[in-house]
This record gives sequence, structure tokens and C-alpha cells, in this order.
Amino acid sequence: MRKIEHIGIAVKDLAAANDNYAKLFNAEPYKQERVESEGVNTSFFMIGDSKIELLEASNENSAIAKYIEKRGEGIHHIAYDVEDIVAERNRLIAEGFQAIGDIKHGADHKLVCFFHPKSANGVLVELCQERSE
Ligand code: ZN
Repeated sequence: MRKIEHIGIAVKDLAAANDNYAKLFNAEPYKQERVESEGVNTSFFMIGDSKIELLEASNENSAIAKYIEKRGEGIHHIAYDVEDIVAERNRLIAEGFQAIGDIKHGADHKLVCFFHPKSANGVLVELCQERSE
């Protein structure tokens, strides 16, 4: 893993959260994107080299809807930038980390995969690799 790529925050209302975070950062989101496969609407803010992703459920079966129902709004995951997502995913599985699903296309032009919070002391882990195409 090379660095933290972004931190994901689960929000109830993306438009309201965008306004709030725009005030916090004194900057607008540089990107908003719906990820159909994950049932989320996302927006991204850049602060220096760091990114914050806000995630809102786009349907009631979304993992974000379930997360907010259970735990309320808050930090949902930490995403790590990797050079080779296949190799890194296999390495973590071999180390006993519990993968959630397969590698897929995520937001912000990335290949992504996830590891269960139980595997990482209560924090959902996302790996992401920049897509080359
Ligand atoms: Zn993310």
C-alpha cells in the first residue's frame, strides 16, 4: 500500500453534506458521481493531496443505508492506494483478512475492493487502483 487514497464518510443527505463540507473546506466538491453497483451517490473534495469522499445511499438496500441505520452518519471506510490491486487483495486474503466481494469498478475512475471491518479492528478497508484506460 502506498498511501491513504481517501476517507469515506457516510451521510444521510448528500446535497446538505456537500454544502456543509464546502463551508468546512472553503471549496466545492471536484466531482460527483453515482455508483450504481454500490447503490451510492458520491462526491469528492480535495484538500491539498488528500481526498474526502461523501457517500449517500441511492436506494434502501444500499450498504450505506444499512450502515446509517445501524451506526448513524460518520467515517465509513479508509481507502488505500495500491499499485496492483489483484496482488494486494490476494496477499491480504492469504494473511487472513476477510474480503467482501470481488474487485469492481468504483467511483473516481478506480478499481476497488473491500475487506470486512472485523478484519481490521472495526474499520472497513477499501483498496483502490487507478484504472489505466
Ligand atoms: Zn471510497
